[in-house]
Amino acid sequence: MRRGTPPLTVSDRAERTGNQLEWRIALSELDYGPEEYDAVRRVLDSRWLSMGPEVAAFEREFAAASGAAHALAVSNATAALHLALLALEVGPGDEVIQPALNFVAAANMTLAVGGTPVFADIASLHEPTIDPEHVSHLLSPRTKAVIVMHYGGYPGRMAPIVSACAARGIPVIEDACHAPLVTYEDPGRQPPHGRTVGTLGHVACFSFFGNKNLATGEGGMITTDDEAIAARLRALRSHGMTTLTWERHRGHASSYDVARPGYNCRLDELRAALGRVQLQRLPSGNARRRDCVRRYHRQLVDSPVTLPFAGWDRDFGGHLMPVLAANADHRARIASALRDERIQSSLHYPAIPTFAAYRSYAGTAWPLSHDFADRVVTLPLHARLSDSDVDAVATVVKRVEA
Ligand SMILES: *Cc1c(COP(=O)(O)O)cnc(C)c1O
Repeated sequence: MRRGTPPLTVSDRAERTGNQLEWRIALSELDYGPEEYDAVRRVLDSRWLSMGPEVAAFEREFAAASGAAHALAVSNATAALHLALLALEVGPGDEVIQPALNFVAAANMTLAVGGTPVFADIASLHEPTIDPEHVSHLLSPRTKAVIVMHYGGYPGRMAPIVSACAARGIPVIEDACHAPLVTYEDPGRQPPHGRTVGTLGHVACFSFFGNKNLATGEGGMITTDDEAIAARLRALRSHGMTTLTWERHRGHASSYDVARPGYNCRLDELRAALGRVQLQRLPSGNARRRDCVRRYHRQLVDSPVTLPFAGWDRDFGGHLMPVLAANADHRARIASALRDERIQSSLHYPAIPTFAAYRSYAGTAWPLSHDFADRVVTLPLHARLSDSDVDAVATVVKRVEA
């Protein structure tokens, strides 16, 4: 802003920034208070910026909260998925079964390690997580891992997938980005019933991107109960080196070896300190998100949209608030009516086989994922959303006829 320019009002800003609309109700918002500012200041005062005591404490606290034996902080969830696939020795010729309806990171990282993504459809439009029956059907001697993504914060159907994979010695990876601290409750009380997301398979990957339930900007976490996998991950995270700068700084080590080439996927102290505060806020943030989802569901019953997960009576993380329009045209009109009211909406997700980079997968083998992707609108949902915000959004959605 030029000196002497008066502060802009909200409507000024919307005009002056052109496309960059100033949302009245944003899709997601940070839940930050003075504690986050204090945490960052504490790190700046300490003069140690990466992989030090804050990262160690964040890992300890995250592991304790989710009940995992090991938690390793990393730079983002894409790096977490990359390292998880490498630690499980996925490579050329190996197939990784995963949802067609997902953020593209898991598929991209499968290709990055030389593996082949094998896409499975969602269980239903009502429960758009990976279909265990389709997974069973796709299991082959080349299957090296199965990835489950807990869409919107609702745990996938882990019990049948874990048991089918255990019978063949195939590891399960949780893409747990939407569901930190959510308890898996199996309708038939089959294992891993009662366990926390992050401990339901062999390795789990979390994201702390700015729009996630626990937000540090960039950042991620890998959890596992497997000591050998944890050791491999630890080395892969930092150049394959056998000791850390922090350990050498503390005099606990003086040199290092490189047993296998690695990467740099480390997390810094600033983000770890933010993550520790955000972890404290997570239970109440998730609870507020669940309340908002229930309110949306009450307001939108008998509306022209259908509600995935309506009537869900188990734990969930409330990361996304998806509704299904009658068709793509209805969806476009809902999005545009919301935009006219300066309410932000989005679309989670386009089906991966429709992307140009995944053209060789184009086809009709994922009818439910395609149908869902053509009709889904995601509505604003975050821990700072008020009841009247929910009502305002629902009012707009209800008024758009199918
Ligand atoms: C956000 C997200 C990712 C990627 O996370 P980054 O930390 O941005 O790399 C992967 N999978 C899902 C399901 C996500 O929501």
